[in-house]
Amino acid sequence: MSRADARTYDLDALRDRVAGESGGSVDDSIPQLAQADPSLCGMALVLADGTTRTSAQADVAFSIQSAVKPFLFALAILDTGGRALDRIGIEPTGESFDAIKLESGTGRPPNPMVNAGALLTAALVDGGDVRGRDERIWRGLCAFAGRELDVDEDVAHSEHLLGDRNHALAHLMRAEGTLEVGADDAVAVYARACAVLVDADALAAMGATLACGGRNPLTGERVVPPEVARDVVAVMATCGVYDGSGRWMRSVGVPAKSSVSGAIVMSVPGVLGGAVVSPPLDDQGTSVRGHLACEALSADLDLHVFGSL
Ligand code: GLU
Repeated sequence: MSRADARTYDLDALRDRVAGESGGSVDDSIPQLAQADPSLCGMALVLADGTTRTSAQADVAFSIQSAVKPFLFALAILDTGGRALDRIGIEPTGESFDAIKLESGTGRPPNPMVNAGALLTAALVDGGDVRGRDERIWRGLCAFAGRELDVDEDVAHSEHLLGDRNHALAHLMRAEGTLEVGADDAVAVYARACAVLVDADALAAMGATLACGGRNPLTGERVVPPEVARDVVAVMATCGVYDGSGRWMRSVGVPAKSSVSGAIVMSVPGVLGGAVVSPPLDDQGTSVRGHLACEALSADLDLHVFGSL
């Protein structure tokens, strides 16, 4: 098979291939995530020409969690006229997503795909106050998805209340002079962004919008300029799977972002966006079935960026 076969690719057959994998455990950082159905497995692809492929359960809603980070980064670059690129590092950390650590010397978050970075990107978007930034982020995410998205207010509340490490990171960034808004406000906005509800179908469209240089292939809307999409996808490639980014790039070879809800969003430049959701996670916070599915998909459709070698 080749990339051209994505138009007719059978995602239910791929789902059947990984469904029997029982490894990993569901995140329990908040009650709502702990209650996730471990057998959930949904997949979707949105191609650059707008063709959409879905599996069973591609329409099951889940909170986007860290899969929101590439899109927050994109909105922050756009809204700051590029200044966000000077405020946040872009180097992989080799550490977990919520490590209490900033770049030495600068006090900047190491990259926008870990929590420190996402707390800052969520604070850099337009909006003026918490409500305004919530609204700006929600509108931006809807434009990436090409449809109106809901927010799970209970998840937002739990994330805000129980995100002690995020509060610690926000205070650390305040102390370093990196974060200009109040620490609690920064956590509130980030928590609500994590609580936006998507399904595999919507998340694949979001990945496809980045893969298409910032233009949503379903609605035709230009959400961000090509140079912003390029910056975001480059950082997904190097930092998107936390301390598993190297292993991911070798085995799957596609820019992606993982999340604790078990979602993975992929952006294959010029070709497609993809999403898989399956809650059981490995030690690095990556969906076990999601990783297997993305590896198989990449091999089947010849998506690996170094696949020609
Ligand atoms: N809501 C999670 C947190 O900030 C997101 C982490 C993730 O999905 O990896 O702790």
